[in-house]
Amino acid sequence: MTAVDMPFLRLVSETVTPCKTMDSRMWFADPDDAEEPFNNPQVAVGYCHDCPIMLQCAEHAITNKSITHGVWGGLTMLDIRRLRRKRNLAKVQQG
Ligand code: SF4
Repeated sequence: MTAVDMPFLRLVSETVTPCKTMDSRMWFADPDDAEEPFNNPQVAVGYCHDCPIMLQCAEHAITNKSITHGVWGGLTMLDIRRLRRKRNLAKVQQG
């Protein structure tokens, strides 16, 4: 854990979030799971939009490359990887 992670983890511990109060398998959907909603990441994405710390969670996921699985801050891993690439490209272009 880096020092940057501490405020977010504290925020999570002090906040009632959908991923803590509902079945967490929805946030780590497996396309091979035969049971809805555990095979559809968009279900978790929808619940994230009701979360009071959605923006902080998305930022945490984008900036922490150790995160490789799941839905975070209303973003799928596909979204998160796209945003990481955009930021990296922007850094390169800024020199
Ligand atoms: S935004 Fe983050 S903390 Fe909130 S429900 Fe989604 S994954 Fe959980």
